[in-house]
Amino acid sequence: MAKNIYDFDEGGREMAGLLGGKGAGLAEMTRMGLPVPPGFTVTTEACRSYLLTGAEPAGLRDELERHLSVLERAAGRRLGDPHAPLLLSVRSGARFSMPGMMETVLDIGLTDATVHGLAGTGGGKRFAYDSYRRLLQMYGSTVLGLHRGLFESALTRLKTARGLADDRALTADDLADLVEVYKAVIRSAAGEDFPQDPREQLHRSVQAVFHSWNSERARLYRRREHIPDDLGTAVNIQMMVFGNHGPRSGTGVAFTRDPATGRPGVYGDYLAGAQGEDVVSGVRDALPLAELEQLDPAAYRALRGYLALLETHYRDLCDVEFTVDDGTLWMLQTRIGKRTAEAAFRIAAQLADEGLITQDEALARVTGEQLGRLLFPRFADSTGRRPLAHGVPASPGAAIGAAVFDSAEAVRRAAAGEKVVLIRRETTPDDLPGMVAAQAVLTSRGGKTSHAAVVARGMGKVCVCGAEQLTVDPAGRRFTTPDGTVVAEGDVISVDGTAGTVHLGVLTLRTSPVAAYLESGDAGDLVGDDLVRAVDRLLHHADGLRRMEVRANADTPEDAARARRFGAQGIGLCRTEHMFLGERRRLVEAMILARSDTERRQALKALLPLQRADFTGILAAMDGLPVTIRLLDPPLHEFLPDRTALTARLAAAEARGETPEPHDRELLAAVESMHEVNPMLGLRGVRLALVAPGLIAMQVRALAEAVVDRRRAGGDPHAEIMVPLVASATELRLVKTEIKQVLAEVSTATGTDVDLSVGTMIELPRAALTAGRIAEEAEFFSYGTNDLTQTVWGMSRDDVEAEFFPAYLAQGVFDTSPFETLDRDGVGRMVRIATAEGRETRPGLVTGVCGEHGGDPASVRFFDRAGLDYVSCSPFRVPVARLEAARARLDDAHRHTGDTR
Ligand code: PEP
Ligand code: MG
Repeated sequence: MAKNIYDFDEGGREMAGLLGGKGAGLAEMTRMGLPVPPGFTVTTEACRSYLLTGAEPAGLRDELERHLSVLERAAGRRLGDPHAPLLLSVRSGARFSMPGMMETVLDIGLTDATVHGLAGTGGGKRFAYDSYRRLLQMYGSTVLGLHRGLFESALTRLKTARGLADDRALTADDLADLVEVYKAVIRSAAGEDFPQDPREQLHRSVQAVFHSWNSERARLYRRREHIPDDLGTAVNIQMMVFGNHGPRSGTGVAFTRDPATGRPGVYGDYLAGAQGEDVVSGVRDALPLAELEQLDPAAYRALRGYLALLETHYRDLCDVEFTVDDGTLWMLQTRIGKRTAEAAFRIAAQLADEGLITQDEALARVTGEQLGRLLFPRFADSTGRRPLAHGVPASPGAAIGAAVFDSAEAVRRAAAGEKVVLIRRETTPDDLPGMVAAQAVLTSRGGKTSHAAVVARGMGKVCVCGAEQLTVDPAGRRFTTPDGTVVAEGDVISVDGTAGTVHLGVLTLRTSPVAAYLESGDAGDLVGDDLVRAVDRLLHHADGLRRMEVRANADTPEDAARARRFGAQGIGLCRTEHMFLGERRRLVEAMILARSDTERRQALKALLPLQRADFTGILAAMDGLPVTIRLLDPPLHEFLPDRTALTARLAAAEARGETPEPHDRELLAAVESMHEVNPMLGLRGVRLALVAPGLIAMQVRALAEAVVDRRRAGGDPHAEIMVPLVASATELRLVKTEIKQVLAEVSTATGTDVDLSVGTMIELPRAALTAGRIAEEAEFFSYGTNDLTQTVWGMSRDDVEAEFFPAYLAQGVFDTSPFETLDRDGVGRMVRIATAEGRETRPGLVTGVCGEHGGDPASVRFFDRAGLDYVSCSPFRVPVARLEAARARLDDAHRHTGDTR
């Protein structure tokens, strides 16, 4: 029979899959000798089995009894003992942290009988009844599914009746009355009595935690964080310790470094006389951790010691939850702490400096996604302007949006394309959809570790919390500042998550220091900034480690130059269609409308020098590095006016009794003759080369001449020609013949040998499946994963994301758009097949990717494993790809040594 339960001293950090993150952390701290209240963990496997079969796994109850006996011996108290009762906490804890998403029940074991025992054994009556009413409330809402509001309004009624404002002023008798009221609430709302058998309380709480894995908010959180749905949660059962045990008690959270900036020094919040989730939920305002030093110096010193021990042991930023119970410090949780992008880079560099981790490990601790976030702009003038309010800078960045005051409104407006800022007094897990939809989250209560802060940081969302000067009125859909300014729903505000300020209206944005450093091409003055220094170091380390090259998609000399500064090793895709816009559209129009060869030749002749100048500029910017020029790809009619607009113009002229412009008539005739129902699958790519005479000859000639010009000017151009949308080897052979002929002509005419390599994009399934034959012609492959995704899935890349994608995402058909992260099973398989078969024909065939996926972190790692030679992406993604290409190597090295971190 499977083992369903592990005592804390049987587990460890390496068992997070089975024991969940919390269980593994508790076990590890127990192993390290830290003061952890005794307890045990029911495995994620037991949860999975329960959710699958609807019944507890065989033997679970017996195991529970055995482990409970051990716990009782360690605690020196027994569950249900009317004189000295043991109380238990039951907490969820999945493999990956899901803050506040699942359930917890505290104070299990309290009954009408044991409450007296608890009062008698040192706690006093008030404490005992306070604990009992908390149990009733948590059990009622979590296990019995009653609305929390039922309990809250009963509490409010009692306070009103007693004329009290604060819970803390309630007397022991008040709380004893409240217990009776809560029991009556349960009886009438749930149709059953609160169980007076502590074991029943325990069993049903465990089941409720199992169920909470599938709560709506937990599912939503997992989807957002890409956490698999089938992991299940572990359940931790532990002796209760009490932060609400009088003035020498309290509860808090702490970080070994600042999770927002990464700066060294312990950091956290402490709430005196409070229990359980009060700190994390941000419901009450916490004190900075440093104040614990005054309140309880011994507990503070002990805590600092444990924090130092944990950081050295885990060799990373740790966060902990702790409780001081009547002067005794207890550790209730530890894990590797979530952090902002900025903190991730700083901490990785610091830990490497401190010799705790290697450079490779430092690199493994930061992600391309985080680097991408550091490139976001910030507000230029936020420090100079008087803000509406100051709060805690909980998650950095700059965001602008319309004020909204509830989650549903945030979702509604965001779905209509509006940018919004979600404003709440404090957030609860129910606000998650709104937080996902918003640009930023602003709260008037709670600290850096409140729900809003933790969740926003995890999502990379801008967050300012605890802006206490604001009076937030959710019902009136507005907030008011101390000077009487009212911000109503829909008013635009700017939120600065780095400074912790909120401003009315739209502030201007400025480049981030990391982007400025990358723009400058080397660290220069900016390395004075420790964040820039950390990025610089890790990127250089990455460059030394990665196997794949990183090129850029760039169509202009300016973009090419920027890409080069960002570290691009060439251009993997230069889309030439962008060179035919603006003024030049007229010339393309003339070419399309040409009635004779002469007219067409003239139009092309006019385009030639312009195109040559484009290429010369780009080759100069990328001197010495490969530049892949793609021949014209989109349907030609894209260069003509819109059909509907043209028809309307002609109709309007006729209605006015005027003779329409003959040119307009010609244009309309051309547009109509070229009209396609499905132009993405129509006359485009290589097909144009085969049916539009002279077009690609002009492009090839312009490129060859640009190469000659650059060589004559002392440059070192490395141009390559790429043919788009090839489906068969024959297409490529025909086009290649024409290309080689033009190259030969230019070589003869100029006396310079310009034998440029000719390759193809692989962006249609047929090309991938016949890659072996195509490689007979192609001198290189570049995967156009945008078109390949579109054609492999049969989903229009231009339309689909607005249509059924939300439903597909919601129903788990995919967890991210395949246009964003490569679909490894389908599109990825095509890439692997084509690479293998292409290289069989042509050993050493150079392969790259130039679709959007070339800058997506997860896809970059896939391409590394698939053995591609380079990825090519937009200039801003180049640093991201450099980092991820190196991390892919680390993943590989770690896989071989069995380290899965
Ligand atoms: C592609 O299809 O992936 C590609 C790079 O080409 P485009 O996006 O220009 O079609
Ligand atoms: Mg394409």
